Order: sequence, then C-alpha cells, then structure tokens
Amino acid sequence: MTFDILGLSAELLRAVRAQGYAVPTPVQAQAIPLILAGRDLLAGAQTGTGKTAAFTLPLLQRLSEAGSRRPPPRALVLAPTRELAAQVQESVRAYGKHLALRSTVVVGGVGIMPQINALRRGVDVLVATPGRLLDHLQQKTVDLSHVEILVLDEADRMLDMGFIRDIRKVLAALPKQRQNLLFSATFSREIRELADQLLHDPAAVDIAPHGSVTELVTHKVHPVAHTRKRALLSHLIGQGNWRQVLVFTRTKHGANRLATQLDHDGLNATAIHSSKSQSARTKALKDFKHGQVRVLVATDIAARGIDIEALPHVVNYELSNIAEDYIHRIGRTGRAGSEGQAVSLVSSDERKHLAAIERLLGRRLPFTVIEGFEPEAGSEGPSSISTRRNRPHRKPSQNGYPNSSGRPGHNTRPGSSHRTQAKTNTN
Ligand code: AMP
Repeated sequence: MTFDILGLSAELLRAVRAQGYAVPTPVQAQAIPLILAGRDLLAGAQTGTGKTAAFTLPLLQRLSEAGSRRPPPRALVLAPTRELAAQVQESVRAYGKHLALRSTVVVGGVGIMPQINALRRGVDVLVATPGRLLDHLQQKTVDLSHVEILVLDEADRMLDMGFIRDIRKVLAALPKQRQNLLFSATFSREIRELADQLLHDPAAVDIAPHGSVTELVTHKVHPVAHTRKRALLSHLIGQGNWRQVLVFTRTKHGANRLATQLDHDGLNATAIHSSKSQSARTKALKDFKHGQVRVLVATDIAARGIDIEALPHVVNYELSNIAEDYIHRIGRTGRAGSEGQAVSLVSSDERKHLAAIERLLGRRLPFTVIEGFEPEAGSEGPSSISTRRNRPHRKPSQNGYPNSSGRPGHNTRPGSSHRTQAKTNTN
C-alpha cells in the first residue's frame, strides 16, 4: 500500500514524500478516502498512529479543490492543549506547503493581538484550543459561520479537561451544514454522546479499539515502596543508561520536586506542567528533544501532544487514578515503528489503579521486583502480587524480550515479562 492510491493530489503527495513517509499508517489508509468522499468520521486512534496526517491531508485537499476564499476559516481543528494545537498547525504547514492555503493557530497563554491580526487577514485553516477560541468568539474577532470541516482532535482529552461547555458554545457558532471528524483514543459514554450529537451517518475507523495499545511497547511494573521510588528511578536510568526518559507524576508539585531531586542525583532533569509559562515549556521540550535534558518530568495535561519520534522510555512514577491516562502516557513511546518501554513504579497504595489499568487493557502487566527496592514488608505489592504467583496462565517470554534482562540485581519471576501483544486478552 502506498500513498498514491488514496486519492490525494500531486501537491500533497509531494509534501508527504518530503516528510519521508513511504507507507500510510492504518488510520491514514482508512480515514483519508472516507474524508475525501465527504463523510463524517468517528476515529479511534491514539497519538502516535499518524492521526494528524490522517485528517490534515484530506482536509487540505478538500479546501484546495474549492479554491481559497479568504478571510473566513473554512476548516476548524480543535485540540486540547497549546502544544498539540501547535503541532497540528505545523503539520498543516508542512503538508500544505505546495498549496495556496493559509492557516493560523489560536491558543491561550500568548498575546491575543497577533491572533486577531492573523484572523483579520484571513485564514483557511484555524487550529485552536477551545478556551481561547471562545474568547475570540465573544470578542467577535472570529467568524465561524463559514466553517465547512470541523475536526475534534483528542476529543476524550478535551472532555477530561472540562472543555465540553466551551466546545458546545463553539459548535453553536458553526453552520449546520459541514463535515465533522472526531478523533479520540478512548470511548467513554460522554464521547459517544458527543459523537451522536455531532456526527451525521459517520463512518467509523477504529485503529485503537477500546483499551488496546501498540504492540511495539514493552510494559514493566516494578513494585516498590513509595519512599524508594526516586532512588529506584535513578537506578533504572543509570543502570539502563537511558538517554531520553519521559516521567509522569500526578501533580505539578510532585513534578517539580522529582525533577529537582533527579538533578541532585546527577541526571539532567526538568519539569513541565501547566503552571509553567509557554516559553518555559517550549524550551524544556526543545532541550529534551535535542538531548540537553535527559529526564523530562511531566503531568498528564502538560505531556499531552508531546510529539517526539522514537521516544524510548516512558515511566509512570505515579499511576493516574484515570486508567485511560495510562494509554495516553504510553502513547508517547512505541511510535511510528520504533520500539519503546513503558515502566510503572507501583507502591501498594496504587494497586487499585493498576488493577483498573489492567482491566482496561484486558491483560495483566508483567512485573519485576528489583533487588534492593523490594516493596514494604507486609505489603502485598501492586495488584495483589501474591494472587498472581498462583496464576497458571502466564507464558514465558515469546518474542525475544528477556525475562530477567540478564543484568545482575534484577530479580524477575519466571514468565513475568513478555512483549505486549496488541489486543491480546489474557484475562
Ligand atoms: P501522530 O499520531 O499524528 O501524532 O503522528 C505520530 C508520528 O508519526 C509523527 O511524528 C509523524 O510525523 C509520524 N508519521 C505520520 N504518518 C507517518 C507515516 N505514514 N509514516 C511514517 N511516520 C509517520
């Protein structure tokens, strides 16, 4: 399968070739022809599946076929965070470089005047976060009455972040006749309700069925006492010689504290979260991408949309109490063909979160006790380790991923580590 048979114009194919993409990803292969045909779409695809190009390419083609009639935006892409909006806009620019279409991005945390000026000059594609777009609507600095195509990107996250009211207000400003595309990694009841209201006779593309994760990610769970997590993390990074690690904490305060402590351990670390200024976040990301920062500590919201090719290690320093966050977090690794490792440090108080994650994934996650970092005496460890020992269903390592890593100091139970099988259900 190549891009040539999807019905894209020569200008777009040239831009795709310039990106170095040889083969469309599954979501691209399925979604592009449907969007070109004008269908509404409900797409289940997490970050890393190539979903941005899956909607951007056909969107640009449809707009360019009709020719530009600036100034109103004719396509609107709503995204949950500034980072993701900026990345979508970058994709629009890159794929649209041989087309005479203009785009702009409208997000909070930066001055509103340049945005007003850009909107006044006219744009074909507007990429926005819901809050700032609403500001523009209220100030009447944007007119959405000519929008032909609406994209909700990472719709589940927008709802998690409490944007539903803002989204509804934006929808009220759109013309009734339009094409709607909804992308979401997970499908809660709220997402389905939104989809029912928004989409007309939608085609469905389900690349990441509920709870599935890419098979390129290896999952590991290390049970450990809460107080020993930081030391274990430093040990893992040092021992494994990990050069680029994204670490998730639950709180901004926790992210700051951990980054400072890791720095004291001699690991170059920095934190990003929503209380940091946009320029500080952009700089931290840039330094991380370029290797000046070895460990990036992030909260879930700040990490949303971090787009780094081949990020090899994602660590859940603390598990989120929202099981879907696990899928979003590890969506940052195992991307676009490269393998990744998702490591969770789990203290006994988090075992219920781990159990919820395993239920969502439909499988148990392999666990490894690291010598010197055993969980507290008297604690059962995460997700009832004692009951797991008696479980007969675990198969030994199947595809070359070592059970015990072969390194001294690692105490792995037989068969406790194996490569993730996409959509496997071992429960
Ligand atoms: P996304 O899911 O849109 O965040 O994309 C994930 C990553 O995959 C991005 O870094 C894209 O540049 C890359 N990508 C998108 N489409 C392809 C493709 N067809 N082949 C290889 N890489 C791709």
